[in-house]
Amino acid sequence: MIGDEEREEVLDTLRSDWITTGPKTKAFEQKFAAFLRAEGALALNSCTAGLHLALVVNGIGPGDGVITTPMTFCASVNVIEHVGARPVLADVESDTLNIDPEKILKVLKSPKGRKAKAILAVHYAGHPCEMAGIEKIAQKYGLAVIEDAAHAFPAKYKGCPVGSGKNLVAFSFYATKNLTTGEGGMLTGDRKLLEKARILSLHGMSRDAWKRYDKKGSWKYQVLYPGFKYNMSDIQAAIGIRQLEKIHRFQKRRYRVVEAYNQSFDNFDALEIPAAREGVEHAWHLYVLRLNPGVLKISRDQFIEELKKSGVASSVHFIPVHLHPFYRKKYGYKPHDFPVAFNEYQRMLSLPLNPRLSDRDVHQVTRAVCKIAKRFHA
Ligand SMILES: *Cc1c(COP(=O)(O)O)cnc(C)c1O
Repeated sequence: MIGDEEREEVLDTLRSDWITTGPKTKAFEQKFAAFLRAEGALALNSCTAGLHLALVVNGIGPGDGVITTPMTFCASVNVIEHVGARPVLADVESDTLNIDPEKILKVLKSPKGRKAKAILAVHYAGHPCEMAGIEKIAQKYGLAVIEDAAHAFPAKYKGCPVGSGKNLVAFSFYATKNLTTGEGGMLTGDRKLLEKARILSLHGMSRDAWKRYDKKGSWKYQVLYPGFKYNMSDIQAAIGIRQLEKIHRFQKRRYRVVEAYNQSFDNFDALEIPAAREGVEHAWHLYVLRLNPGVLKISRDQFIEELKKSGVASSVHFIPVHLHPFYRKKYGYKPHDFPVAFNEYQRMLSLPLNPRLSDRDVHQVTRAVCKIAKRFHA
């Protein structure tokens, strides 16, 4: 989905006098914040960087616990390890596959949850989490709330864009995400916390390079913290500025593909279409189809193999965190410790979903899925 507009904007940057964090990054931050009606935005080189900074500026460190979901990409949990804190997993809701507020409460009442300082909510597949319930718990227990919105641009919860509130919210512009800068990320939320994150994102220096080198700048700077190297470059921001102008068009196509998939699969008892609750605007980053194992003679893995034979690529999002060797060994997790995540994982697959899919592509996918569902019906 990279067009001439993105290419021209990148060339404009390359022909200019400034290629790293500078005027284009600033413009991208402003446009992104305006799009979401956010207080502010901090452009970064990844969503992972954003999540890491969010933990640091919220003061999360060694000895603290961070409650999060097993149904996510490893980045959401790795950053908790990076700050020396302990990930405390809470199982997911069976319909949205988002972290379940009731399971958060349960975890908080257990010994493992006693040191919890924050909840890291992941808007799985682009479906916003049940934030009303999560916020209520966070207030009661005095926890910070951080949101992983890698899948959730653009999404809305009860009319408000994800990323428009006070929580620190991290977005991803990785190549596969709804909006891309090749690699990149954005952190939105409370202005004061963002200012601290901004300093930490560039070595902990008191003023950024662009300001140091412009006409009014000076050579002087101070290191206030041992910061990180997480800044976005103007080359990346150039792509983002032009992608942002197209996002509504991209989303429209995603909705059409989702509609076509839902219509084709809805009356198969072997197939379960993804949930979309009332009161949310789903970003539809992923289309996660679930198989009803009792009704099918083949496993999810075999289903994926059959799809492959029909020329349809699919994947699984995600292998739950607690099954990965590092986490399994460090915390002694068993697969059934998070039964919903584990069971749903075994019957889920992600179908192709991107704005570049043609009607023919969509037809090829639906035909292949329906054919396999019929052929292997128990
Ligand atoms: C892609 C992804 C990330 C990481 O994004 P990067 O920009 O690659 O750092 C984090 N969380 C989830 C849920 C993701 O899917």
